[in-house]
Amino acid sequence: MNQTSLWLDGYSISKEKPTIQNKKVDVCIIGGGIAGISTAFALKDSELNVILIDKGTIGFGATAYTTAKISYLQELPYQKIVTMHGIEAAKLYYNSQKQAFNQIKYNIDTYHIDCDYQTVKDYILANDVSSVAKVKKEEALLKKWNVPYQTITTLPLPISFQYGIGVSSAVFHPLKYLYGLKKQIELKIPIYENVFAKKINKNKNSYTIETDIGKLEATYVVVATHYPFFIIPSYIPFKTHVEKSYVIASKTKDIHDFSCITTGTPMHSIRYHNDYLIYGSYAHALTNHLDDEKNLKKIKERFQNHFQKEIDYIWFNQDLIPNDGLPFIGETEKGSHLFIATGFHTWGMTNGTIAGTIIADLIQHSYSPYEDLFMIKRNWNLSRVGHFIVDACRYAKIYLQTILIQNPKFYRDHVCVINENGTRIGIYIDDKGIQHKVYNQCPHMKCNLIFNEKEKTWDCPCHSSRFDIDGNVIRGPSMQSIKISK
Ligand SMILES: Cc1cc2nc3c(=O)[nH]c(=O)nc-3n(C[C@H](O)[C@H](O)[C@H](O)COP(=O)(O)OP(=O)(O)OC[C@H]3O[C@@H](n4cnc5c(N)ncnc54)[C@H](O)[C@@H]3O)c2cc1C
Repeated sequence: MNQTSLWLDGYSISKEKPTIQNKKVDVCIIGGGIAGISTAFALKDSELNVILIDKGTIGFGATAYTTAKISYLQELPYQKIVTMHGIEAAKLYYNSQKQAFNQIKYNIDTYHIDCDYQTVKDYILANDVSSVAKVKKEEALLKKWNVPYQTITTLPLPISFQYGIGVSSAVFHPLKYLYGLKKQIELKIPIYENVFAKKINKNKNSYTIETDIGKLEATYVVVATHYPFFIIPSYIPFKTHVEKSYVIASKTKDIHDFSCITTGTPMHSIRYHNDYLIYGSYAHALTNHLDDEKNLKKIKERFQNHFQKEIDYIWFNQDLIPNDGLPFIGETEKGSHLFIATGFHTWGMTNGTIAGTIIADLIQHSYSPYEDLFMIKRNWNLSRVGHFIVDACRYAKIYLQTILIQNPKFYRDHVCVINENGTRIGIYIDDKGIQHKVYNQCPHMKCNLIFNEKEKTWDCPCHSSRFDIDGNVIRGPSMQSIKISK
């Protein structure tokens, strides 16, 4: 069983370290996942001098771990948006997702991108009584907007449900698509891998981006790093929480031309790719269910209960869930020239694609029809305040829990957290008996870190930063290490 994503098969990490010292450009895009690559693609024919940098290999972030459904039905998004923002906003969100869906197909056809694109029926299935009412509510919205759909009560699946609706949709291989776009981008725009952006400083009319290999100056900066690595100016940690879920790929002869997701508990997400069934489940807030070993066991059991098949690949992924149902895409503040794209609530194929279009439009024409919808500084309402309180309680709970985890007995005998003169220190003792000591607090927002027994990393249970046993940052939003200087 491979403990990695099926999509990474055949792709390797790029190791080349470029030189970029003191480059001056119009636009610097930071991050080469679906959002950053789509932005570069949308700007490739402009007159602007653009570059894209990524701290690792293009496409190896969250985009490599998705299930890669290109969906505008998603998981009942529209009724939530109606409640939070009104019916006009919900319709506009629908338009944005449909536009992104069409854009992906257009790119594939125009540039002959071979990415296993397949048209499927995409279903949302109600697997308990209360969910039926929710699905019917979503159906009423589709009807109102004249979206063609079909209703169903059975599917050839070992999963029971009561009612479902489906629309014409598609699936693809996310990395093949991304690398197809990359090939076109590179004809016009340089892409630099293994360049770690550490800080963005504001100058009078530009920004200086400090990276691990030198400084860059740009008039416009696009932060497409999945989680923005700054707290101010977008305050994303106060408007989102991180959700983690697990995915399994298993060889099967029963291939179908549909994808689906259940609403209600438990959640099952299904699609097919070549001769694989791809199954996702066990979604939970990062602050809950801290033991990855247990989590993996649970999803394996759930999969076996339904499918009784061998597991060929197993992996997990994380995404930012906005507390008001809409991603954050656009300028952090009007005229700031600093852009972000995040909070795709597990629907990043369409949202990352539309993010590219929106940001390119805003940079070139100072206008996008979706500017207000996805605005970073949009208004709070009562319902959103409620969600914010729920998120805040989650963080408070995990903070207290990690204080209790300080008890060395929580871990096996090779890990402990001690208090040295008021500072929390995490210690991992390796096979040779060598102690690896690090600070036990995440530099991002001071959450206490927990040790991931499976991957031998220190993980932040609040905002998903990760560090190796010697304190080096593996993934953000934290930019700083947790090393103890000797
Ligand atoms: C289990 C699961 C299943 C999903 N399935 C689907 C699905 O079926 N359909 C769908 O539409 N969406 C799905 N999603 C959501 C989707 O995977 C994400 O929303 C999307 O991939 C995010 O893309 P991104 O470009 O924002 O981030 P990433 O792909 O993570 O790209 C960010 C890039 O920025 C780089 N970076 C980070 N920090 C820095 C830095 N400081 N300097 C330089 N570079 C940096 C990283 O190396 C990375 O390459 C799923 C999510 C989960 C959790």
